[in-house]
Amino acid sequence: MDAINIETPYEPVIGLEVHCQLLTESKTFSPDSAEFGAAPNQHVDPVSLGLPGTLPVLNSRVVEFAVRLGLATNCQITACSLLARKHYFYPDLPKGYQISQFESPICVAGYLDIGAERRIRITRIHIEEDAGKSLHDQDPTSTLLDYNRCGVPLLEIVSEPDLRSGAEANLYTQKVRQLVRYLEISDGNMEEGSLRCDANVSVRPRETQALGTKTEIKNMNSFRHVERAIDHEVRRQIALLKRGIPVTHETRLWDDASGETRSMRSKEEAHDYRYFPDPDLPPILVTEAAKAAIMAGMPRLPAVRHSHYVQEFQLPEYDASVLTEERPVADYFEQAVEELGCSESDAPLPVQAKMLSNFIMGDVLRTCKEDGIEVANFPVQPGRLAQLAQLRIESTISSSGAQLLFEAMLSDDRAPGVIAKERNLMQVSDRSALEPIVDRVLEEHPKQVAMYLEGKRSIVGFFIGQVMRRFDGSPDPKLVRTLLIEGLSFRNHE
Ligand code: ADP
Ligand code: MG
Repeated sequence: MDAINIETPYEPVIGLEVHCQLLTESKTFSPDSAEFGAAPNQHVDPVSLGLPGTLPVLNSRVVEFAVRLGLATNCQITACSLLARKHYFYPDLPKGYQISQFESPICVAGYLDIGAERRIRITRIHIEEDAGKSLHDQDPTSTLLDYNRCGVPLLEIVSEPDLRSGAEANLYTQKVRQLVRYLEISDGNMEEGSLRCDANVSVRPRETQALGTKTEIKNMNSFRHVERAIDHEVRRQIALLKRGIPVTHETRLWDDASGETRSMRSKEEAHDYRYFPDPDLPPILVTEAAKAAIMAGMPRLPAVRHSHYVQEFQLPEYDASVLTEERPVADYFEQAVEELGCSESDAPLPVQAKMLSNFIMGDVLRTCKEDGIEVANFPVQPGRLAQLAQLRIESTISSSGAQLLFEAMLSDDRAPGVIAKERNLMQVSDRSALEPIVDRVLEEHPKQVAMYLEGKRSIVGFFIGQVMRRFDGSPDPKLVRTLLIEGLSFRNHE
């Protein structure tokens, strides 16, 4: 389908509700395990099942995680917030209500920047418990119920309608994922459902303020689906309005196979949730002292690191984005910079940082991907990568020598300098060792020398290759080129 034509007189308006499953050991209100992936109905104690006579007790980690995310998204933290019952009937909800927050969410009025110029306001972040899972595909005649997920803690992050395209919504969702992973409050795994997204979409004539009628798209479990579904829905609504047909306020489902959204239920049939404060749970109190303690334990956030890398290390934006994408990679990089800075290297900081960035973006991340290892467990520790980078900075090894040395270091934890010597990888930068070979190569190729003298300058590359091939170890290619050009111009004068 065509991209949305920016010439259309309508502007897309999108607000997202992102549900994020928290990485606590136990559930929101009971000691049951909250782990993903167990066999059905293994983590179901009487509280999860909502049996009569049971009482919920709030998991303090859930509050701590909510405050972490609230602080990271510049929210105000509500000093006294309430948990409320949200009633609806569904087989995967054995209590008949979900415990959530309604009138006083724990975090309000924050924002998340998705680019230098794009600030998306966050209306609220609230705590709620998840429901179980209905399995319809196992057997054509029945639905099976798995209650393991009942009571698993979630945060719902509700944005203001500030997004303007599917691509922006995709980016925003990725930023949320990055943040919850940095904060170590969720694994942000969309395929496993730890991050789920509902998109509210409307369009309005450009230059107007009033919001149009929105639809809500459910059932999106990948960044790509979020983007495609929203763009499709925007086009559908614009097409309706152009024909004079009003948009119906309804919930729609995204069908990725057909590339369309379709109606699920109209909002007129929407539930009345009959919210009220849960009488079994006291208010959640977050004191200034508790907030300060959580603040003190927060990691440096990706946006802060990104601007540090660009400003202090003078790295390109692209490098800064790759290095800050995941916290373990950023931590690895920063440790390597630190170690190189403390070493005898006297190269300027930007030179050191760029050399390390190249090794990490190339060799380290590629090896991690190929071998399925986490950066945090990478066999070459940051300090040793710094030593390798230093050999390269001072031209002790060539770039191809560095490749061989890096490979060797994966299974040899001696100092890189020692391995390089032993494997004869040190770069030869000694004229007296190179000159006889340069001379021999020129003597053996009179035809190519003649071509050079007739003006075919590019043939120098051929000579460089010949010299490199005859040498054990790796000569400095810049020096080889200089010596060749000297030798050739000398022949010119003969
Ligand atoms: P509902 O009561 O239908 O859940 P809310 O007002 O709570 O609606 O908003 C839910 C989400 O929908 C928020 O992210 C909000 O920014 C977004 N939203 C609200 N109105 C619109 C609209 N007209 N167009 C697009 N998004 C909207
Ligand atoms: Mg909603």
